[in-house]
Amino acid sequence: MLEIKNLSKAYKAAKGQIHKAVDGLNLHVKPGDIYGFIGHNGAGKTTTLRCVAGSLAFDEGEILVDGVSFANDPIGCKRRMAYVQDNPELYDNLTAYKYLKFIADVYQVHSDAVKSRVEYFAGGFEILDKLGDPIGSYSHGMKQKLALIAALIHEPKLLMLDEPFVGLDPKAYVTLRGFIGEIRERGGAIFFSTHVLDVAEKICNRVAIIKNGKLIIEGDMQTVKGDTSLENVFLELTEDTANGD
Ligand code: ATP
Repeated sequence: MLEIKNLSKAYKAAKGQIHKAVDGLNLHVKPGDIYGFIGHNGAGKTTTLRCVAGSLAFDEGEILVDGVSFANDPIGCKRRMAYVQDNPELYDNLTAYKYLKFIADVYQVHSDAVKSRVEYFAGGFEILDKLGDPIGSYSHGMKQKLALIAALIHEPKLLMLDEPFVGLDPKAYVTLRGFIGEIRERGGAIFFSTHVLDVAEKICNRVAIIKNGKLIIEGDMQTVKGDTSLENVFLELTEDTANGD
């Protein structure tokens, strides 16, 4: 569903130095995977997600979404995926419904489907009665729910989330898990970054840990964590970078 091959991305740091945020990364997210992507602050998770989402140009490597190469068909890749960043930027002056309609139009969702999908997802997140309100009046968690609905509305095959569980109330967390399960059941996949390791351990079947932009371990959750916890494995493998990157 997602293949990241030898991905590298560097930023210009202070005094003209170059900082390699992602360094030769290889990952393979298969259909049906709920794939957790973990690493310290500054390890390169958001940079990776943004490269895959097409919102950040990368220096080297290849990205394939559902077999479609980003280099050859970026629009085709974007049609198949959705990305929710950790701090979604929405349009405060629009009502939530107008925003969802706008996103649905961008993704060319059939108008018959828009209403029922909006009702389904907004009902699930319990914001159906707030869709007529301007987004500027929404709380942080409500904005997060709205961004998730906007991501789900075109039924992406690949859903990418940056820190999805921070700020969601417990009911919304359970609802999101349900929506994630539905994507998985229809052969899609979820690739998400998180610092909440007990949640990752509970819901992911696969996991990758990166450190300084490089993959240090990747695989089946049960194999990676063995008979200890994901937290223990993470702390052990990243011990020497406890001060970040
Ligand atoms: P966090 O868990 O804190 O969100 P992350 O793993 O998502 O961290 P990134 O945001 O990908 O990490 O950052 C990776 C590295 O790239 C960091 O060292 C960061 O300082 C650097 N970086 C990120 N964005 C930029 C930028 N626009 N310009 C320069 N350096 C950047």
